[in-house]
Amino acid sequence: MRRTIIAANWKMNNLTSEVINFFAEFGDAALNSENEVIIAPAYPYIPLASALSKNKNIEIAAQDVYPKAEGAFTGMVGGKMLADLGVKAVIIGHSERRRIFGEPNDLIREKVKFVQENGLHLIFCVGETLPERENGVMFDVLKEQIHSAFDDNLTLAPEKITIAYEPVWAIGTGVTATPEQAAEMHAFIRKIMKEKYGYEDSRILYGGSVKPENIQGLMANEDIDGALVGGASLKASSFMKLVNF
Ligand code: PEP
Repeated sequence: MRRTIIAANWKMNNLTSEVINFFAEFGDAALNSENEVIIAPAYPYIPLASALSKNKNIEIAAQDVYPKAEGAFTGMVGGKMLADLGVKAVIIGHSERRRIFGEPNDLIREKVKFVQENGLHLIFCVGETLPERENGVMFDVLKEQIHSAFDDNLTLAPEKITIAYEPVWAIGTGVTATPEQAAEMHAFIRKIMKEKYGYEDSRILYGGSVKPENIQGLMANEDIDGALVGGASLKASSFMKLVNF
């Protein structure tokens, strides 16, 4: 049985007062949900979000990690810091990291390795751009992203390896993949995970303009195990509808 995950990626949004207001309004929404609820605030707000979400069935995640425990890496946040803050899940390979910050596959592979060595829950993002979809190479792109990051060597328990299929053309654009498009890609990822890595029960989330109005259609498919949500997760009023869709 794969438990549905509804995850929030706040990116570089939500200041102190907004985080406080979010949790005040969100209340027990996650406690009342049967889904696994994850929220990834920006690094400086992790302690505040952790404190405000204590005992509320919410796991606080990081949006990234630098793949070293500690040391002379100006501007970075590493493994010991995440552990110190009680973070148990990390998003790796988000398309904004790949595209805006030029993260190459070998750095992503190092991060995946680091997350595994530290026993964290890996939320690994893959997805094709619009030109890649228009050229019909989306399956090759996903295969390459997965194979290059996993390096034949997955060690975490299946419930700690989550893939987020996030077509780049759907992120923050208001354009959502149709349930059929998402289902086709999820089935493809599931096949790779099973046949190449022997992971049948990893969760595969859909991300890309998920909102309260479209979540049910997407989640109706048996290969879609939840959602990674950006814009519609910033306000409690909308995220609470998503966690209890
Ligand atoms: C994301 O960035 O992971 C995402 C899915 O964003 P949005 O929901 O805003 O498209």
